[in-house]
Amino acid sequence: MGESSKWYKDAKPFLNTPAVIFQLFIGLDKKGKELDDLPWHLVRAFSSNRDVGKVYKEYLSLSLEEALDTDIQLYGYTSPSIKDPTYEERHPGKATLEAFALANNDWFKSWQHLPVKKRGDDYDGLKKAFGQKILEKILDIYPHLKDHVDCLVYGTSAAANFYLNRNAGGGAKLENTRARMCLEASAKMRADSGIPGLYLTGEDILVNSVVFSSISGALTASEILGRNVVIEAFALKSLKILKRHFFGSGK
Ligand SMILES: Cc1cc2nc3c(=O)[nH]c(=O)nc-3n(C[C@H](O)[C@H](O)[C@H](O)COP(=O)(O)OP(=O)(O)OC[C@H]3O[C@@H](n4cnc5c(N)ncnc54)[C@H](O)[C@@H]3O)c2cc1C
Repeated sequence: MGESSKWYKDAKPFLNTPAVIFQLFIGLDKKGKELDDLPWHLVRAFSSNRDVGKVYKEYLSLSLEEALDTDIQLYGYTSPSIKDPTYEERHPGKATLEAFALANNDWFKSWQHLPVKKRGDDYDGLKKAFGQKILEKILDIYPHLKDHVDCLVYGTSAAANFYLNRNAGGGAKLENTRARMCLEASAKMRADSGIPGLYLTGEDILVNSVVFSSISGALTASEILGRNVVIEAFALKSLKILKRHFFGSGK
């Protein structure tokens, strides 16, 4: 969306910079042992009970070298494979864990301009060192995984900028802050761009997540068709339930 467009000017006060995360993708082998205790949900973890806002600011003010000497502060993890019922069939004896930690976009900025996968030994060494710190946290929680780590893939902010076309290393395009989620923002960041034939959709006009991006698609379709397809979908679903209830058939 061009900076001179009305949509952009209206939305500008709500366009923020999202938090940056360093990602660690962990491939696990089961080697005869089931890893059923992996979390299917997203776990967010904090290393201290101190005020999160303060911890967040202090940690992000560190240089990468200082961060490597400091305990990882905010992190999280989930197992993509455990929530995928087809995973075992497709990759027998394997499992995955995705972990992430709060990071600063500047930490890997000096390598940003270099071609991906060819950013040199310094970059590789630093991303591995940071990734190992996250791995240590995960192994503190799941010590029995130690002998099952098969492979590690590291995702820096430079990788997010390259692969996800971000400017500031974030996973999300906008942070879901209170200011961004206010009524005025919802009213201004609409599907209708104001330019004939051009509509917006996805997480940018609603909230980041697979579910909300899909709902956003329905909102955009509503705008294009001039009908509320979200209410129509609910009405159809309700009709189906009523038919099943009274006539024994939902068709
Ligand atoms: C690392 C990561 C982990 C996440 N984990 C979760 C999770 O566990 N659960 C969850 O609910 N959400 C998660 N999310 C968020 C979720 O993936 C996004 O909110 C959602 O995918 C956004 O959907 P979208 O349609 O807005 O954009 P996208 O999914 O980014 O789709 C945009 C599409 O447009 C294409 N495109 C871009 N430019 C052009 C162009 N010029 N021409 C043609 N095509 C173009 C892109 O290739 C892409 O396919 C995660 C996001 C990230 C980055």
